[in-house]
Amino acid sequence: MEISSNFDSGNIEVVSIDKKKNDFKLKIRKDTNSEFLQWFHFRLSEAKKKSCKFSILNAGKTAYPKGWENYNVCVSYDREDWFRIPTTYSNGQLKFKFTPKFNSVYFAYFAPYSYERHLDLVHQAQMSDQVTMEIVGKTYEGRNIEMLIIGKPGKNKKVIWVIARQHPGEPMAEWFIEGFIDRLLNPDDPVSKKILEDAILYVVPNMNIDGSIAGNLRASASGANLNREWQKPSKKMSPEVYYVRKKMDETGINLLLDVHGDEEIPYNFVACAEGIPGYDDYLKTMEKKFIDSWMSTSPDFQDTYKYPLDPPGGANMTIATPQIASRYGCLSFTIEMPFKDNADVPDKHYGWSDDRSRILGASVLNPVLHVLHQLR
Ligand SMILES: [Zn+2]
Repeated sequence: MEISSNFDSGNIEVVSIDKKKNDFKLKIRKDTNSEFLQWFHFRLSEAKKKSCKFSILNAGKTAYPKGWENYNVCVSYDREDWFRIPTTYSNGQLKFKFTPKFNSVYFAYFAPYSYERHLDLVHQAQMSDQVTMEIVGKTYEGRNIEMLIIGKPGKNKKVIWVIARQHPGEPMAEWFIEGFIDRLLNPDDPVSKKILEDAILYVVPNMNIDGSIAGNLRASASGANLNREWQKPSKKMSPEVYYVRKKMDETGINLLLDVHGDEEIPYNFVACAEGIPGYDDYLKTMEKKFIDSWMSTSPDFQDTYKYPLDPPGGANMTIATPQIASRYGCLSFTIEMPFKDNADVPDKHYGWSDDRSRILGASVLNPVLHVLHQLR
């Protein structure tokens, strides 16, 4: 029996393996140059039909210990079908048991979205006559940051930016983008057609490529939390935000969607810009319009369970949503999906999943169209 994590988005450290009892004591490694930790992804080999016991010893020391309550680990034999297994959290340890049917099996915090799949996504999308792929800049480690420009430029077209995975250990965000792009590029979809008639979209499917490959939860390779870099992005330490914000300054922006996953809250929800200086009736009305439209078209989306609202003027302006809302006076949302499940529409076998994230990503086009012509 052996455990490995030396692959794309792998993260685990072996503390000990008791080969007589098939008992594995494990630890999650810290993000690169950072104290954050929570994402895990590892492979167990040579354990067919062996009843194995796992304990993640430092689960209580992670960024969001409450994220482990009512959470079930994701498991896959083929790296496509990720199902959940019963998991418990007590005394700061995450514990689960599993008897593999095959010789090799993967465990992860959530269905991973690999760098190879990311490259497939952007290259397949660029084959559409609606799409141009551009490299916005380079990451801290020198990788290309891909942006898809979707739709044709035109006078009076609304500019929509969609960015995802600032936090690399939130792969549901890129599954969401995959569903979003698939629907947007479907020439038979009337909602997509109408959006592309009147808007041009700039989509960055993965803001934090280095951190994704490294198996980080929140940090980039420089150790930066990219979603705290929007006020004063550093060309050296947070080039991912620096180049994207620079491009936003060039294109202007009427709507931002910034896609994330939330460790603790078992629902889909958005965070808005109520705490920015200059928050006005336009933003308030449009936020409500967008939220109501999404709720009426997807039972997976709700507005009851979410983050506490910021007091007037109390927004953290280093975060993308308030910074962009304030900088451009535009409508701006942080979209959050669960790591656990959507408690409104639970699925015992899969929990919240890659497929469900994709479907939610497609569904957001309805509220986008609903508010499109009123965007300022
Ligand atoms: Zn996040």
